[in-house]
Amino acid sequence: MKRPTTSRYAALILFVAGALAACTAPRTTTATASQRDWSRELSQHGTDAVLWQNAGAEAYRCYQQGYELAEMKLDANLEGIAEEKDVVPAAEFDARQPAVIVDVDETVLDNSPFEVEGIAQGLTYTPARWKEWTKRASAGALPGSVDFLKYAADKGCAVYYITNRDADEKQWTIDNLVRAGFPMADAEHVMTREDSSDKTARRGRVATKHRVVLLVGDQLTDFDERLKDRTTDRGRASVDAMADTLMQYFVLLPNPMYGVWRDAISGSGKGVTDSSKVEGVNGFFKQQAR
Ligand SMILES: [Mg+2]
Repeated sequence: MKRPTTSRYAALILFVAGALAACTAPRTTTATASQRDWSRELSQHGTDAVLWQNAGAEAYRCYQQGYELAEMKLDANLEGIAEEKDVVPAAEFDARQPAVIVDVDETVLDNSPFEVEGIAQGLTYTPARWKEWTKRASAGALPGSVDFLKYAADKGCAVYYITNRDADEKQWTIDNLVRAGFPMADAEHVMTREDSSDKTARRGRVATKHRVVLLVGDQLTDFDERLKDRTTDRGRASVDAMADTLMQYFVLLPNPMYGVWRDAISGSGKGVTDSSKVEGVNGFFKQQAR
């Protein structure tokens, strides 16, 4: 039997000593649950989505495409009104000014630089961080948005910006929209959040004076609050039930960074924390992978 050489003995002793040390030493490289940096972990969930939205020519083209579609739908709906005027008795014709309603964030203004900052710093959304960003009033216009809304204004439409930014962000939002070249960005046409995120009442007020001919948003709830409900087939059944009106009156733009779709998985509102959001998403994948 061949005997181990001295150097082999030494290597064996080092290996055994190393193995023992690994078993007995405190585990300093793996954080315990209480030490986990949940905010950093949650922020990193968004890496691919933010890269796509902020740096992808695909996102750039999707916005252009969305606003091309918006122009086609607007033309068709305005033509429909013109045809109606020709056939309906004058006394019965609805002569209210047409209006286009758009959302603000990720519809006309690009906040992906805010999301990039969050990922770089390992931070998640907080109202304070968000308002520090909106106060800068420096978000860029999304591709196609300014030209489309100028086109709508030229065609005789009023333009309303219905956003869930808070009332104390209203002037910053107007400043940002004006700076980016949007039409009708004033106190009357920029409608910030009131009692809730539900935009139905604000849309209703626009509809008392106008014929709403098109809505554009990055969330389905920018069209109808009922589309917030994701309990049946994750909301797809409601989308199908409203297919006709969605097709005629709504353009949905891309936003993989945040929104109702994510809140439905990770939770939102009071009592929800960064750790519960991480666990909500992890739970989804575990369930799907069964
Ligand atoms: Mg939005």
